[in-house]
Amino acid sequence: MSTADPQTATVRTRFAPSPTGFLHIGGFRTIIFSWLLARRHGGQFALRVEDTDQQRTVPGVVEDFLEGFRWMGIDLDEGPVIGGPFGPYYQSQRRDLYAAYAHQLVASGHAYRCFCSKERLEEMYADQQARHLPTTGYDRRCRRLSPSEIDANLAAGLSYVVRIAIPTDGDTIVPDALRGDVVFHHRALEDLVLLKSDGYPTYHLASVIDDHLMRFTHILRGDEWLSTAPIHKLIYDALQWEWPITAHVPSVMGSDGRKLSKRRGAQSILYYRDQGFLPHAIINYLALLGWSYDDKTEILSVDQLQQAFSLERVQRSGAVFDEERMKWFNGVYIRQMAIDELLDHVLPFMERPAADGGLPDEVARPLNRAFVRRVVQLDQERIKLLTDVVPLTDFFFVNTLTYPVEWLIGKGLDAAGARSGMERALGSLESNLTWEAAVLEETMRQLATDMGVRPGPLFMGLRVAVTGRKETPPLFATMEILGREETLKRVRSGLELLAAL
Ligand code: GLU
Repeated sequence: MSTADPQTATVRTRFAPSPTGFLHIGGFRTIIFSWLLARRHGGQFALRVEDTDQQRTVPGVVEDFLEGFRWMGIDLDEGPVIGGPFGPYYQSQRRDLYAAYAHQLVASGHAYRCFCSKERLEEMYADQQARHLPTTGYDRRCRRLSPSEIDANLAAGLSYVVRIAIPTDGDTIVPDALRGDVVFHHRALEDLVLLKSDGYPTYHLASVIDDHLMRFTHILRGDEWLSTAPIHKLIYDALQWEWPITAHVPSVMGSDGRKLSKRRGAQSILYYRDQGFLPHAIINYLALLGWSYDDKTEILSVDQLQQAFSLERVQRSGAVFDEERMKWFNGVYIRQMAIDELLDHVLPFMERPAADGGLPDEVARPLNRAFVRRVVQLDQERIKLLTDVVPLTDFFFVNTLTYPVEWLIGKGLDAAGARSGMERALGSLESNLTWEAAVLEETMRQLATDMGVRPGPLFMGLRVAVTGRKETPPLFATMEILGREETLKRVRSGLELLAAL
């Protein structure tokens, strides 16, 4: 949280979602950039909900964003629920404000009332299409209405929208922090609607008014919005407001090279929580999706990112989201974690019902923390997602293992050889050994030597008997943790299977 005065802060950024659905990962990346920029300069970061399209508003999305922010540790200075000096932070609660500005723009000639009915507009578009006309949309009929025609329409109670009056010639130059000056020819722009007939503003009007009134100094948004920036700039100019520093950050593509969008790849951030990602790993990975620290450093803590982030090092080209890479980052963070912290993270995953990805239901909950601690420690190197812990460790917890009996026969052995190896191994393990990995290993190696066999195939049979797996953490450490009784029980079961062959 920032302690700077919001009235005079030099950096104020915002995330301004339309709650019409979840975000894709590119949206989260833009959030991370905006938040880091505010934190870098001791400024403020706010959430503003652009719910001006009531029909398309999806219930629960804002709550999901807030929960996602809380989980990620992205702290807000202002927004819904917590409020702030420039609230309300729901645009639906600021309606009158936008209408007043729309009428101010009408009065100054920068906008006009359009009385065209839906039917007339449909006809117009159909006609433009039929005649293959190069179209910039609305044909501006109402822009040519005389004052008396307008008065007559108003007196007749006709409903209207307010449209921006794009200058008929010339250009608008949009200064962009990443691209420099971007030139838009007016003849290519449409007289877009600013205020709808129901009195609700469109995104263009509401976003500009709020960005100004809420004193945001830096506007970061995805480059899919660049085409609307000249409309925003014209409104700023008409109201004689200062254009904020604006950066249209490059898109994020899916691994197929196609742009992510609300329809492709949109997901609650909480999805990644449920997949077993750690917030800091996500933040680190996403910060580097289009920004770099020094072209080589990959692992940067949130503190480091907050100290280093700058628009200057945001790249101009698009970035590709690679979930496997994000998992790699996650694995790095998991390996760095103190074991007890890791345990706090993985225990809830392990204790979920089996149907939700937890350990088999036969395993009694709550788990024994001290035992799980030893198990997880043994596997810490291998965990990439917190959820990996379940398939990696479940054999420690279950009562019965199931595996194909042939797995018990190590390479180069036949059934009889595997059986006699297993028998002698069981005999040695049953003798009065100190139950420690090093002693167990030494004993089993000695056995291989005595039998004149290679240790590898002998150990493989034991590994499968003890874990039901061919790939496991170190075998003897596993046996140590499982304990004497459980290990012997499992080796005996393996031996019974071999004997029945
Ligand atoms: N409401 C827009 C969205 O949903 C905000 C774009 C902007 O940041 O101006 O992405």
